[in-house]
Amino acid sequence: MRLARTWLPACMALVAALLLPVSAQAVTPARQPAPLATVDHPPVDGVNSFDNGSRDVPRVALTFDADMTQGMLAQLRSGQVRSWYNREVRDILDAEGVRATMFLTGLWVQAYPDVARSLAHDPLFEIGSHTYDHAAFRTPCYSLPAAADRTGEIVRAQEQIEAAAGVRPTLLRFPGDCYDRSDVALARQLGLSVISGDVRSGDAFNTSAASVTAVVLRNLKPGSIVLMHLHGGPNAPMTAPALRGIIQGARARGLGFGTVSQVLGWPDQPLAAPPTARQLLEPLRALKLEWPGRADQVLAPYRLRRLRGPRSPGRGLPGQPVQ
Ligand SMILES: [Zn+2]
Repeated sequence: MRLARTWLPACMALVAALLLPVSAQAVTPARQPAPLATVDHPPVDGVNSFDNGSRDVPRVALTFDADMTQGMLAQLRSGQVRSWYNREVRDILDAEGVRATMFLTGLWVQAYPDVARSLAHDPLFEIGSHTYDHAAFRTPCYSLPAAADRTGEIVRAQEQIEAAAGVRPTLLRFPGDCYDRSDVALARQLGLSVISGDVRSGDAFNTSAASVTAVVLRNLKPGSIVLMHLHGGPNAPMTAPALRGIIQGARARGLGFGTVSQVLGWPDQPLAAPPTARQLLEPLRALKLEWPGRADQVLAPYRLRRLRGPRSPGRGLPGQPVQ
């Protein structure tokens, strides 16, 4: 009896220990693939990196990053991807009169100079930098290659954006949102404020518009800065339909929309100067729509006609029958 009292608990403990892994395995759900490792930024908020504006003002900032890596550019050139510009996103914002901030990479601006210029001259939009070719400032960062020249990444983007769009950004979003204090200090040195955000839409590689809308609306608060993408294509296929739901849902809660500068209570980025005649003509020249000949030769027949003959109601060139 005494022996049984000693051995029984020990035997039960042994049986339990043998059974535990089996039962634990039975209730553990199938292992999900681990999310891609990324380095997130440390709590540098309140220093020089910004996640959100005042929680007392019922306004949020939608932001759209236009990524372009060398790999994405190669896909575009080979025709593997038709476009890395999600025109529908811009059309929705325009139609709804929703202000937003676009963070453009230098490579994207090189691929779409006319679009970059047009966005910069649209009073709805504010332009920020997303570095030159979307290399990671800190790794691991969603499998992005590490930036070899961090200063060059920022400076080259500034040059590209200014040359094509006519604005020099003062806001910067790091690729993958991966950075640390030294990166923030570098950006400050180069005249840029680092903008992160407090609502990650998860629109990258997401094929469910409903899930993107739900994630954003669940986390949206007054003063929020929402991270989304402008490049569309296979890397962000559902941004546009998700955006419709986000605008509708935010408005239903009494939230309005502003640029990042507005939501942070900063002065608006000065509007870009109106495009010059040269900037307007460049796309036409690229399409070879200009008159074949020198400008003075183009007008020569009309000048001669005015000088020589009586004014005629006809529209034909001299020597040609009037239709
Ligand atoms: Zn990005």
